[in-house]
Amino acid sequence: MRSRLAPSPTGAFHVGNVRTFLLTWLHVRAAGGSLVLRVDDLDGPRVKAAATQEGLDDLRWLGLDWDASLGVLVQSTRGDVYAAAAADLVARGLAYPCVCTRSEVESAASAPHGPDGPRYPGTCRGRFASLEAAAAATGRPVALRFVVTRGPVAFVDGLFGPQAFDVADETGDFVIFKSNGTAAYQLATVIDDAASGVDLVIRGADLLPSTARQLLLARALGLASPSYLHLPLVVGPDGRRLAKRHGDTSVRALRAAGWTSAGLVGRIASTAALCGPHESLSPSALLSRYSPSQLTTAPVVLDSTFFSSPR
Ligand SMILES: [Zn+2]
Repeated sequence: MRSRLAPSPTGAFHVGNVRTFLLTWLHVRAAGGSLVLRVDDLDGPRVKAAATQEGLDDLRWLGLDWDASLGVLVQSTRGDVYAAAAADLVARGLAYPCVCTRSEVESAASAPHGPDGPRYPGTCRGRFASLEAAAAATGRPVALRFVVTRGPVAFVDGLFGPQAFDVADETGDFVIFKSNGTAAYQLATVIDDAASGVDLVIRGADLLPSTARQLLLARALGLASPSYLHLPLVVGPDGRRLAKRHGDTSVRALRAAGWTSAGLVGRIASTAALCGPHESLSPSALLSRYSPSQLTTAPVVLDSTFFSSPR
């Protein structure tokens, strides 16, 4: 088994991120598997080098390691690899240039928007001979979209069980290369998982629908697809995904409030029934208690008392 830790240095890790990293680490290490570190820093101006370092420091402080001998993938250094794959898809008629703005896509979409935005109606499909032609004809920045064929994409998630999504209904032809010249998450993650030999992806359930898009892309690129295990989201008392409005649950803030690494790891592990809410334990000490059969699909609700007494 090989999986990856893929911190995105767009802000401090909050408890939801930490829970996913901790369970990924336990799942893989309990099975004797390996972990690749990947830095998901494609998001441009929001990403700072200091934030990347801070994220890695947080992981180390929590006691979560990775296999450095496998190399570290830094997505911002792999633009050429992603561009070559995108060009290959265009050359084979599996992707095409698109000059639509977001607001044009929104106003053209007939169906209500899903969680991943409006469904693209296919406006630019077959419209331009090449990326250069699209730029010359319109004077606009050009993105690339993947040609989606209609029909359900089925897979079995390691926790949520059998899934099927019709990507043509969900998002339509989706962006694989943004008009600012960077690869979209969907393309980069598929290429990187294959390049680093990842055979199990563990991540938050908000990414469940995007799995179908990644399976289509992997198939088109002739790449092996990993298995997937999605973990339930961590939500606030209002049932909404954990965010700033629920208070600052970043690792940085919790450390400043007096939490120790083992105290915090134990508190978060207790949400997966791996220990009691008042136990302090390192990830290594939790290994013998971990069993995949303990994972459940129910969202994890954090209320205001969750972090009220640091230890
Ligand atoms: Zn378009």
